[in-house]
Amino acid sequence: SFRDAEVLSRLASVGEIATGVAHEVRNPLTSVKGLLQLLKEEYDYKHWDVIFSELDQAIATIQSLLTVSKPSLQSEALTDFSLCVELENILSLFQHDSYRIQFKKHWFDKSTKIRGKRNQIKQALFNLIKNACEAIETTGAVSLTHRRINDYVELTITDTGVGIAEKDISRIGVPFFTTKPDGTGMGLAQVYSVLYENGGSVDVHSELGHGTTFTIRMPVSPLYTTTDFGGITPRMDIHL
Ligand code: ADP
Ligand code: MG
Repeated sequence: SFRDAEVLSRLASVGEIATGVAHEVRNPLTSVKGLLQLLKEEYDYKHWDVIFSELDQAIATIQSLLTVSKPSLQSEALTDFSLCVELENILSLFQHDSYRIQFKKHWFDKSTKIRGKRNQIKQALFNLIKNACEAIETTGAVSLTHRRINDYVELTITDTGVGIAEKDISRIGVPFFTTKPDGTGMGLAQVYSVLYENGGSVDVHSELGHGTTFTIRMPVSPLYTTTDFGGITPRMDIHL
């Protein structure tokens, strides 16, 4: 589709920019920060806090760019694993949010495995859950469903958060596009790139003020495919 072609062309440039620029920029930024810290010890200046927070923001952005293009991850081997088992582990990293966010898990066909680059995909799942939690300003729920549909595994992540404005839908996933004051805009760029590179897809549906659903699909590992389409998991309605 149009969206796919557009995403893929953006992604090709993410890697190039990342490797070319990130290393060149990170090191001098880090040196400047070190030198400024020395200056700060000697001189009183009311804007030090702003200088350091802006600098840290720039360094974090560069760092996230390097994480997306990490060569060790690009050359990762393919393995067979269950998406919802990984998700289960990732959710434990968000336990500190459980006082305000209810995590609802609906695991169908838990043992069905996909084939892909596990660490990359784990990072993508982490980015999606992080966004879902950040979208919920006070309290709410993040619902997760995992099901097999023919030879695909479908995972939906639905939050009751702020939602995405219609004008922004086409911009999410563009590197550096963020609506958060301290966002990097690299999370979804990583998600789209990893899912497409692993033969999967990403869809988003959102209602401003109500919430957002991200749907990711990955082909089932060849070890688990079957020509028998008799056992399709029934669709479940998701109410935002
Ligand atoms: P960041 O989280 O650093 O802003 P991302 O690439 O992860 O960067 O997300 C880009 C933007 O997409 C966010 O700033 C936000 O506007 C929007 N977004 C992503 N996920 C959600 C979500 N679950 N609910 C609402 N907005 C979202
Ligand atoms: Mg994010």
